[in-house]
Amino acid sequence: MTDSIADRCAARGLRMTGQRRTIAEVLDVASDHPDVEELYARASAQDPKISLATVYRTVKLFEEIGIVERVDFGDGRARYEDAERDHHDHLIDLDTGQIIEFVDEEIEALQEKIARKLGYRLTGHRMELYGVPLKKG
Ligand SMILES: [Zn+2]
Repeated sequence: MTDSIADRCAARGLRMTGQRRTIAEVLDVASDHPDVEELYARASAQDPKISLATVYRTVKLFEEIGIVERVDFGDGRARYEDAERDHHDHLIDLDTGQIIEFVDEEIEALQEKIARKLGYRLTGHRMELYGVPLKKG
């Protein structure tokens, strides 16, 4: 159990206004990969006074201090997820836009091996797979 986003922001000295707190809470409960528009829709449902510009600035700020991570699934929209979530990779269904999260130990190990072979210690990676569902039958 990790600290809430608001707690982590406060721990890094970020002044937490009511609106920032609302946006932090929206990100806390998100189990998907919302973009700014989606975050705005969720945040303004809780506080109608929040503006899209505030959501945009706040999420950018959270990204700058490493609280959230930006992910890009090839459609030109910046999406966000909690940086403290356990590492996982993404498969994007090009028919439906559905995002499937997975971890594969063989891939993890292989990447370590490749980095080592190239003379590096791996500190992280990001992988997005794109595909369409196999036809059944
Ligand atoms: Zn994810």
